[in-house]
Amino acid sequence: MNGLGSVIIISGPSGAGKSTAIRRILEIRKDVYFSVSATTRAKRPGEIDGVNYLFVSQETFDGMVERGELLEHAGYVNHCYGTPALPVKEALEKGQTVLLDIEVQGAVRIKSVIPEAVLVFLIPSRLSTLRKRLSERSTEEPEVVENRIKTAMVELEQICNYDYVVFNDDLQEAVRELDAIITAARCRRSIRAPQIETTM
Ligand code: ADP
Ligand code: 5GP
Repeated sequence: MNGLGSVIIISGPSGAGKSTAIRRILEIRKDVYFSVSATTRAKRPGEIDGVNYLFVSQETFDGMVERGELLEHAGYVNHCYGTPALPVKEALEKGQTVLLDIEVQGAVRIKSVIPEAVLVFLIPSRLSTLRKRLSERSTEEPEVVENRIKTAMVELEQICNYDYVVFNDDLQEAVRELDAIITAARCRRSIRAPQIETTM
């Protein structure tokens, strides 16, 4: 999968603030395309089908996998999540920066297909913050919150695969750092050198 665009993957434990930070980035950067994942989990209040996720049945999800429509897919706390390949390909061909909010297994799979992908791990500097944020978000039952928090430790073990770590303690500071990483990714030689017009 090629093009003039770059791929930025944001991973991090549930409650780290990935969706919130990405929402801010999409407000301030018009050169960024957010990859809308397919998922079998239920829609949360305020989420919009086709904007936050493609909310699909297990049968539909399995069909997407069988037809090879997903660039990667993984299970996360009892649900399936996957990245539709075609929109990513089209955005890269247009030279857009593609932002993916995906978990650690998916990140490694994308990196194996797109080695130039930049991997960012977003996390509060104190893990205890996760429980507080997830409880206050009130979108999951307490049992699901605990499962997600347990998963955080497993996810943290994969931090070695990431290029950057952004602490989301202060949201504005985290968004500033993500913005800087996106800018740096756009300036990489592999992206920029093919754009130089050599006709004199
Ligand atoms: P994720 O997508 O990583 O699961 P969310 O973006 O849904 O996390 O954030 C989890 C909760 O924490 C939300 O209620 C959000 O408003 C809140 N939040 C996000 N970033 C911060 C921050 N820097 N400080 C305080 N609360 C935050
Ligand atoms: P949530 O249910 O909180 O929206 O997402 C749960 C987890 O699934 C998060 O870690 C998120 O990054 C991950 N996720 C979302 N979409 C995808 C995807 O397309 N592929 C993979 N591998 N993970 C995803």
